[in-house]
Amino acid sequence: MSELGGLVAAVTGGASGIGLAAARLLAARGAYVAVLDVSKDVELDAFAGGAAGHLAVGCDVTDDASVVAAVAAVVGRFGRLDILVNNAGIGALGTVADNPDDEWSRVLDVNVVGIARMSRAALPHLRRSPAAAIVNMCSIAATAGLPQRALYSASKGAVLSLTRAMAADHVREGIRVNCVNPGTVDTPWVARLLPAADVPAAERAALAARQPTGRLVCPEEVAAAVAYLAGPLAGAVTGVDLAVDGGMNALRIRPV
Ligand code: NAD
Repeated sequence: MSELGGLVAAVTGGASGIGLAAARLLAARGAYVAVLDVSKDVELDAFAGGAAGHLAVGCDVTDDASVVAAVAAVVGRFGRLDILVNNAGIGALGTVADNPDDEWSRVLDVNVVGIARMSRAALPHLRRSPAAAIVNMCSIAATAGLPQRALYSASKGAVLSLTRAMAADHVREGIRVNCVNPGTVDTPWVARLLPAADVPAAERAALAARQPTGRLVCPEEVAAAVAYLAGPLAGAVTGVDLAVDGGMNALRIRPV
């Protein structure tokens, strides 16, 4: 049987970028996958190439009723939930001088409270799983002190702390909780970050150059970390943050 054979995974923000790559890889490794996304474009074909046995559910992680209904839809379809990938997230640029209160509320509601909401709804089902795992999508911004990312960094710092606290709370229930800290990943997110300038290639090169490897991370490379942490080979791993960041966190060098 394949590595995740018979297990059921839900991936928030699975209609795009990292979440889509994670959904595809979890499916390729044998899991039944439910993609949960606020995007109206959620289609089974988007992640499974039309393969049978998967599910797409409209879900806004800032809306508790929507989250509860989405988890019920997953369990209604598959009868269980083993893996929750809390990947949905939004960005914010600027210093503390730039973001008003309502922007703080909006970003924290998605990036931090969204994880709590999803996990709260999923926990009763995860407790019944013999192989329960939660993987939260954090960021190098949680630890790197990036400029012009005050609100976003604070939100991801909270994701890191929340991951460790959840790992402690649920370890005796057999639920592992970890997070992945990507560097800058080549997703639609990055395309949106780049200003509508006439030199997007230069902007892109600058983002790539922040990472010692000198290139952007691929969504599939982050998905591989998600699949590892979600699967049985990580059975002794909980409370960790796994950097997939081209060496940005651990190395003190930058490419010339
Ligand atoms: P993306 O914009 O390509 O995909 C994000 C997905 O989340 C979209 O499909 C969007 O519809 C969904 N989403 C947004 N708000 C939602 C909500 N309220 N409820 C449900 N779904 C919602 O972005 P991405 O680059 O794939 O980022 C995914 C995650 O990875 C985010 O948590 C982000 O913070 C994190 N991350 C991204 C990068 C990067 O460089 N791309 C780096 C570090 C961390």
